[in-house]
Amino acid sequence: MEETGEASIGEFEEAGKIGARVREESRALINIGEGLLDIAETIEGMIRDEGAQPAFPVNVSVNEVAAHYTPESGDKATIGENDVVKIDLGVELNGALSDTAYTMDLGGGYGKLVEASEEGLKKAIAAMKPGATIGEIGGIVEDTIKGYGYKPIANLTGHRISTGILHTGIDVPSIRTDDPYELQEGEIYAIEPFATNGRGFVSDSDQVEIFSLYMPGKLRMRESRKVLNHIISNYGLLPFAERWLQQEFRSKLLLKNALKEMLRMQVLKAYPVLKEAGDGIVAQAEHTVLIEEGGARILTRE
Ligand code: MN
Ligand code: MN
Repeated sequence: MEETGEASIGEFEEAGKIGARVREESRALINIGEGLLDIAETIEGMIRDEGAQPAFPVNVSVNEVAAHYTPESGDKATIGENDVVKIDLGVELNGALSDTAYTMDLGGGYGKLVEASEEGLKKAIAAMKPGATIGEIGGIVEDTIKGYGYKPIANLTGHRISTGILHTGIDVPSIRTDDPYELQEGEIYAIEPFATNGRGFVSDSDQVEIFSLYMPGKLRMRESRKVLNHIISNYGLLPFAERWLQQEFRSKLLLKNALKEMLRMQVLKAYPVLKEAGDGIVAQAEHTVLIEEGGARILTRE
């Protein structure tokens, strides 16, 4: 990724359109028996075919897995008959970013749950405008999802996006809070309600497939420094998958040890796979929007 200062609104619009096109085309891939690894790699290929880069590894999160799951290399998991599958994808184009997600209910038993997340997203976007507070947007999502008899996931949030940075530190929860931060014209947000029939929050699992650069630090091992240079020049501050590095660094063991050292030195941040705390089924819907005078415009639309 090249640093070229602030990306323009036009570039964010283009990243949004690519995200929307890939999202819609990818729906045809989500079928019973399909491999999760194939799905993730195919979608990442579709983003590259559009002349862009994945802003993060494509997430394919099934049932009680809520987020941060991307298949590992050699992953044999396939989609089952009654699975609820979340596809979350991001596009990076000259530093401009888009982030969008949808849920497919293969068995047809969770239609209302999927609708709850989609309606939460729709209502939130309808309320987003300059001066609206993050606390009140969260309240709208919470009320909408609870109106369906489900719970919003309290500790997964939408986030403000800026050039080259997916999570700027300004978060938009799916619950009512007293956060007084007011949305500003020109800001870009990824808004992403999660709905569940479980306990309403996620916890870390032991599995980690996704990482990003965190802080500069001294690395003792030569391999670690090689891997770090590759990360800096290819992903910048954006998240990446261990699976991507394995295509570059053939020794799995050396790579594992390099990642371990980088985590220990806090050069990398790990994103553990997040699961619903009560093993509830989770649905997600996400768009990237631009705050404009009087409202919010969806950028992840064709
Ligand atoms: Mn996302
Ligand atoms: Mn997001």
